Amino acid sequence: MYNKPLPSAHWPPYAYPFHGHLLDAWPAGWPDWRGWPERPWTDGNPWSRQTSPLSGGPERVSERHSHTQHVDWHSLYPREVILRGPADRKRVALTFDDGPDQVWTPQILRILAQYAVKATFMCVGRRVQEHPQVLQWLVREGHEVGNHTFSHPNLTKIPLVEVRNQIVQTENEIHRVSGVRPRFFRPPYGALSDEVIREVRALGDIIIFWDVDSLDWARLTAVQVATNVLAHTAPGTIILMHSAGGNGESLANTVQALPYIIQTLREQGYTFTTVSDLLGQPAYKS
Ligand SMILES: [Zn+2]
Repeated sequence: MYNKPLPSAHWPPYAYPFHGHLLDAWPAGWPDWRGWPERPWTDGNPWSRQTSPLSGGPERVSERHSHTQHVDWHSLYPREVILRGPADRKRVALTFDDGPDQVWTPQILRILAQYAVKATFMCVGRRVQEHPQVLQWLVREGHEVGNHTFSHPNLTKIPLVEVRNQIVQTENEIHRVSGVRPRFFRPPYGALSDEVIREVRALGDIIIFWDVDSLDWARLTAVQVATNVLAHTAPGTIILMHSAGGNGESLANTVQALPYIIQTLREQGYTFTTVSDLLGQPAYKS
């Protein structure tokens, strides 16, 4: 279907992720990992560099809800649950879930900078706490931040008071680290209930789903990830990808597919924007 090969210059892009690629633009205050990979790793696998676990597991687990259910939630709550933006212009929003981390998020930031693309990152509060400089870097680059809970539980399986804590704690952590208070909220696994929606609304947030899923969490090849996105994108699309995974989980497919996706959609006349710009709504509480 797509005869243009994936850009080989990006493969493998991360043999030494912090050598060469990032050195020319080393962010101020960024920890100096230029000795990597000589750094001692606990289990010998550099990709399992510790970041906090996702308490319900990564998106691929059976917790995941179907897109049909998302469409149903949107029809029940059209203002509170958003699937996509207006279709009047060839604009799309890239969204990246589950970060920040120190392995994959920096590589994604590097690619977005290279192509001058602004995106929206749905962040996990505990990981913001662990990797504050990555969040600060991301915000400085002009990307947008949304709330993806504190520890990534399935919100339909925990008490409502805990749902509230998950959202508020994350908002506070993001605010402490970066000075912004996100209005955009994305529930892990896309799992919702009427009670969760009411809680989110009471906190002044809106729920941002997606209409195009890269399925980059599903152990697909980069070509499959790119095809999932390119075959389904339309004007106003919100694209779901990931900028971190479960501990030790590889997002090499995302990193490899991303430049190709950006180039191809641009060739088709699309521009990339943030969720707030796409929706014409503020990203943050004032
Ligand atoms: Zn997630």
